[in-house]
Amino acid sequence: MEYKAFMIKYAEIGTKGKNRYLFEDILCKNINRKIKKLGDFRVRKEQGRIFIDAQSDYDYEDVISALQKIFGIVGICPVMVTETTDFESMRHDVISYVKQAYDRHTFTFKVDTRRNDKTFPMTSMEVNAELGHDLLVAFPELSVDVHQPQEIIHVEIRRQLYIYSIIIPGPGGLPVGTNGKGMALLSGGIDSPVAAYMIAKRGVEMEAVYFHAPPFTSERAKKKVIDLAGLVADYTGTIRLHVVNFSDIQMAIYDNCPHEELTIIMKRFMIRIAEELAKKNDCQCTVTGESIGQVSSQTVFSLCVINDVSTLPVFRPCIGLDKQEIVDIAEKIGTYETSILPYEDCCTTFVAKHPVTRPALSAIEKSEAKLQGTIEELLQKALESVETILCRSRE
Ligand code: ATP
Ligand code: MG
Repeated sequence: MEYKAFMIKYAEIGTKGKNRYLFEDILCKNINRKIKKLGDFRVRKEQGRIFIDAQSDYDYEDVISALQKIFGIVGICPVMVTETTDFESMRHDVISYVKQAYDRHTFTFKVDTRRNDKTFPMTSMEVNAELGHDLLVAFPELSVDVHQPQEIIHVEIRRQLYIYSIIIPGPGGLPVGTNGKGMALLSGGIDSPVAAYMIAKRGVEMEAVYFHAPPFTSERAKKKVIDLAGLVADYTGTIRLHVVNFSDIQMAIYDNCPHEELTIIMKRFMIRIAEELAKKNDCQCTVTGESIGQVSSQTVFSLCVINDVSTLPVFRPCIGLDKQEIVDIAEKIGTYETSILPYEDCCTTFVAKHPVTRPALSAIEKSEAKLQGTIEELLQKALESVETILCRSRE
């Protein structure tokens, strides 16, 4: 069946009281932005619903796949829209809908009518009963089950008539752009793209920072992070990726600090730089892919010491997830295959044989003090030479 329209269901936005329209408007804008390359569509709000009217041909699978990546959407309903709402044509339309929407007509069903047009001369119950009867006559192998139907044929009588029964799940969450902006520390690994996805899912716009350390990390490693940012951008919209040259800072740490503290000290500098960039770019938080106990720098003790340098909230949405749970999300959102490509990470290049797992803040601060006099200039240089790359969704 060729659907000329989609009805968009959104759940949590409905709880936003008098701010609701702000969320709806941003959702409409995000829908428009995402599907405009797929055809000519009109996105409109009507009494607590968002409708997308197709005004040109389009590829059904492409449109559904695009809508499934827009946070705030919980359900996508391909809908049949007809202009006339007199009851006789309605009978025809419902039969024609069921005929086209299903290959096999052997399910249990009920009709669920909603009248937004209260001047309509029949009650919803009457319409349900009449249309249910018509369907049983037209498709003898259907049967009615009002308690646990396999299919619910929704009929909405508005200025036009809407019929739908298929609800394709959306990603949920809140529309990106409704809740500030975050700076995600994006490495080439599995966890950080998942973390950026999870925070964006709550409506937060995303920028990202990648610490690149040539020649220890290759151009290929950088390209991989750019690709990952592009994949996350399928959900968040274009991501501004700030590439920081971290080599000199890393070398200074390597040359001056105990090697078993290297990763902790490096992470503290990453957070400091990420915060500078966050503040410069109107972000209210940073986001990392850390998860308790995953590696030595992610013990609770290490996280405390790393966290100590932060002045903005650091959101770590993977913090309580097992690796497999993070992998499952990475697979679902499509970043996994890219994340597991071989690459060198600046943290792994310099990793010590026996890194500390219970660092003491005072000890780390003492080690960092050895960098005084050189590190300030290196930080300055790193911040001045940031390369910002626009990573767009490729869909
Ligand atoms: P990931 O899978 O995200 O790489 P990981 O398990 O490898 O995480 P670490 O290497 O300890 O863990 O990094 C912890 C977090 O620090 C990452 O999730 C990421 O947010 C940040 N991070 C690490 N390396 C970099 C980097 N080179 N550039 C930007 N952020 C980084
Ligand atoms: Mg990593």
